[in-house]
Amino acid sequence: MAYLPRTRLSTTSFISLFITTLLTSTLSLPEELFSLEIGTKIRSDKQSLMLVASDFGNLTKSTPAAVFYPSSSHDIAGLIHFSYTHSTPFFISPRGHGHSINGQASCSNGVVIHMELLGQGRADRINVSVANRYMDVAGEQLWIDVLSASHAHRLRANSWTDYLHLTVGGTLSVGGISGQTFQHGPQISNVLELDVITGTGQQVTCSKTHNQDLFNAVLGGLGQFGIITRARIPLSPTPEKVKWIWLIYTNIVAFTRDQESLISIDENERHFGFLKYLEGSLLMEQGIIGSWRSSSFFSKNDMQRMAQLTAKHRLTALYYLEVVVAYDENIVAEVDQVILLFH
Ligand SMILES: Cc1cc2nc3c(=O)[nH]c(=O)nc-3n(C[C@H](O)[C@H](O)[C@H](O)COP(=O)(O)OP(=O)(O)OC[C@H]3O[C@@H](n4cnc5c(N)ncnc54)[C@H](O)[C@@H]3O)c2cc1C
Repeated sequence: MAYLPRTRLSTTSFISLFITTLLTSTLSLPEELFSLEIGTKIRSDKQSLMLVASDFGNLTKSTPAAVFYPSSSHDIAGLIHFSYTHSTPFFISPRGHGHSINGQASCSNGVVIHMELLGQGRADRINVSVANRYMDVAGEQLWIDVLSASHAHRLRANSWTDYLHLTVGGTLSVGGISGQTFQHGPQISNVLELDVITGTGQQVTCSKTHNQDLFNAVLGGLGQFGIITRARIPLSPTPEKVKWIWLIYTNIVAFTRDQESLISIDENERHFGFLKYLEGSLLMEQGIIGSWRSSSFFSKNDMQRMAQLTAKHRLTALYYLEVVVAYDENIVAEVDQVILLFH
């Protein structure tokens, strides 16, 4: 076994591929590795190690033995295969944009793969098939770039994260949720096919119908079941126009009731068929005013009104529903009527 998971989450037969020599992980890296071509892409200088020792959360510190800067999927497969076939295998962990908050992408004493380097300066890592309504995206790509590439064709993925400076491989390893999830499921439910490098260093294509065990394990698998190097994401046409609405609540009962009723409405029901995004949030105490200011959504007047509202009701928290309604020129009047229903 070569591709040692940092943590082990279950005991399915698939995982058994990865679990045998976990305890050997404290060994330093085998010397022969550095005489191979991939060895020239491994760095263990202090600066490289420090850059991946922590993550966005800054709660944990876990220094690897080395950082691997691959130029291709083939390099990654080579590293994993080397470890798998070696008598003293080592931990390997892919790192996307490092926006985990508790060390999920790090690995003490092992090798962290710097996935993002794969895509640097390479426009060919995102390919949109307009005719087939899908895009093939390399695992290290940021969702913000995925959005730009698909939007250029007036197409979009169905399910997103709110924050888009996260990698495709990183969010497909955790789930990926946002305001479209109530309608389309998380991002991991919106994937047609994956290219994965397994724990033995094999490059395997998988989908719901082909190598489905691997497909199901890798999606939401926290990088424990293989490394995603390509994902095929289905696309839909972008709406012609959208209205972005924030509904502010002082009362949590009304807030949750409205949220629940909105997500339960049948998508095909006439008025709400074009509800495309729904997310509920809480604004707390001093954060209330600060959070409002950080949004370009509200005018100065709006913010004053909200400040008055909190003062009047002596509130320490406000609730809001963020709603997006899609429409086109033919139904502007109808949409305005629906929006009135929200007031
Ligand atoms: C500011 C901020 C905003 C966020 N917003 C949202 C949000 O709106 N919705 C949401 O769902 N989540 C959100 N998250 C959480 C985020 O989706 C996860 O932390 C995600 O894992 C981060 O992606 P990353 O590219 O930084 O991955 P990393 O943190 O680098 O890695 C995350 C995990 O994925 C594994 N991994 C990385 N690349 C690959 C790969 N190619 N193949 C297999 N495994 C891989 C790593 O080993 C690790 O286990 C947010 C996080 C932050 C910090």
